[in-house]
Amino acid sequence: MPDQRPQPRPNVASIPSYVAGKPSVPREGMTVYKLSSNENPYPPLPGVLAAATEAAARMNRYPDMGNADLYGALSDKLQVPAEQLALATGSVALIYQLVQAFCDPGDEVVYAWRSFEAYPIAVTAAAATSVRIPVTADGRHDLDAMAEAITDRTKVVLVCTPNNPTGPAVTQAELDAFLAKVPPHVLVVVDEAYVEFVRMPDPVDGLATYRSHENVLVTRTFSKAYGLAGFRVGYAVGPAEIAGALRAVSLPFGVSSVAQAAAVASLASEDALLERVDALVAERDRVVSGLRDVGMAVPEPQGNFVWFGAGERTTELASAGDELGIVVRPFAGEGARVTIGEPEANDRIVELARRFTS
Ligand code: PMP
Repeated sequence: MPDQRPQPRPNVASIPSYVAGKPSVPREGMTVYKLSSNENPYPPLPGVLAAATEAAARMNRYPDMGNADLYGALSDKLQVPAEQLALATGSVALIYQLVQAFCDPGDEVVYAWRSFEAYPIAVTAAAATSVRIPVTADGRHDLDAMAEAITDRTKVVLVCTPNNPTGPAVTQAELDAFLAKVPPHVLVVVDEAYVEFVRMPDPVDGLATYRSHENVLVTRTFSKAYGLAGFRVGYAVGPAEIAGALRAVSLPFGVSSVAQAAAVASLASEDALLERVDALVAERDRVVSGLRDVGMAVPEPQGNFVWFGAGERTTELASAGDELGIVVRPFAGEGARVTIGEPEANDRIVELARRFTS
């Protein structure tokens, strides 16, 4: 006798769950640092907090549905017409929206693996099919293999640069060579969640790339460099028809008034925020040389995190982190991602590596 109760679509049962970074549990006599979610360790700038607080006083009203202030501020900053922008509740929402807008059930989405763990969730939720191309031994996208994996069913390719959780970024030359092989009907999404942290020769210029291609969309976020992870706001930049499709499937009133106000104020305080990014990049470099000194090789980190390819010893590594008062993000059997945080936390990252290698 078939089950008569309401049933979700079969794909819902196979949606992988999102494993959020563990919170830090306070310990007697020790500051415990949460390095498990690639958050920004700095507290809000006073002006940003004031703008958000002021907006919170109007919480009985819906947000401006058109998000006019934030579209206007982004349009000015990026020199992009507002119709080529799409705002959402974090850039993760944009990934969901673009799969929903571009994929029928069974259509294929190609992405590197391991990469951002929300990709398979968004793809499976839309009953689309993930085509995962393993990253290279040094944690880089294998763009040749990704181009070869494109079929008639491919609708979207996700390029995560820098790649979460492994760290390396692709170069513009690599991206250009890849794009030259992608058929025009395939949407290439360049996920630039960590773009502000990139310091390398020939970095990807996402905006120039979308301007010269009709099938390229760039996604960015206020969660990382701008420190607004708790408010949930990100944006996409792409051709007007593609950005419009993302806006069409968005939740009405998704981006809250508080998030909009904080994001507008952050754009106005961008210099101060980017100084903090510089400080985090300096700390990242300090950690990398500390790791090298203790004999721990990591893939080249271009985001605000480092990757320990600990393999079978990953759980052991995460427990050693707990001992030291740093909470890392383990991926069992593969490795652990560790966010660059406060200087004391970063000292402990090096100490973790020292214990682990000796
Ligand atoms: N893309 C990548 C690569 C990420 O690592 C993250 C956050 N972990 C996101 C997108 C989503 O960030 P948010 O939804 O906070 O904008």
